[in-house]
Amino acid sequence: MRTLVVGNWKMHGSKSANTELLEALRDAPAPGFPVAVCVPFPYLHQAADLLSGSSVGWGAQNLSEHAQYGAYTGEVSGAMLKDFGCRYVLVGHSERRALYGESDALVAAKTESALAADLIPVLCLGETLDERERAVTESVVERQLTAVHQRIGSEALARCVIAYEPVWAIGTGVTATPAQAQAVHAFIRARLEALCGSAVAAGASILYGGSVKPQNAAELFSQPDIDGGLIGGAALVAGDFLAIVAAAAAS
Ligand code: PEP
Repeated sequence: MRTLVVGNWKMHGSKSANTELLEALRDAPAPGFPVAVCVPFPYLHQAADLLSGSSVGWGAQNLSEHAQYGAYTGEVSGAMLKDFGCRYVLVGHSERRALYGESDALVAAKTESALAADLIPVLCLGETLDERERAVTESVVERQLTAVHQRIGSEALARCVIAYEPVWAIGTGVTATPAQAQAVHAFIRARLEALCGSAVAAGASILYGGSVKPQNAAELFSQPDIDGGLIGGAALVAGDFLAIVAAAAAS
């Protein structure tokens, strides 16, 4: 299991606010595992400028399913992200699934494009509140994971980071309890074992996302199958994000 903490800035930031935040992250002591921030496209250049040479990586929050270049107005390819030094890209974030109609098939195609561009996809999975209440969390997460596996196969899936993000916990202030999160993480690891083998499953990074804060991070990260976090709101405040990174380091 590999520790990793990734910030998702969503559609937040400005050149001046970003400078302060990125400099604080850059100047903090390296925790000994990867840390990264996924910023809006226009700020990739700024992230590259300020974070280059530091222990903090950067990435994007979305990419086109189409490789490289072409007549796709408004789209950004994996090759372009790579050109800006990105290491990670989020795929299948629930906001993209819910607000922009991204299907399991499209998420699978985007995951494939990310890998083709030598990016690490952070593949987001998670159930809605209605799905949790109907006790179909496992089948939803399994469906989302299987769609990607069917498209890219086991070797490629082994190169993805997985983020379990219950939709009802994202940006709501309601965090899954450590036991609720651990149960789904263990399920995902078992599915990875079935699809990719035990070595891949044991070495996979399965991040939890959904209202992680400095106050709840340590308990979440102490769970055996939670390897780190995908952090939204708290990634916009340097002190909070660094406290969450410190909690991951201590776990
Ligand atoms: C996210 O955007 O992926 C996320 C987990 O957001 P928050 O931490 O704000 O719930």
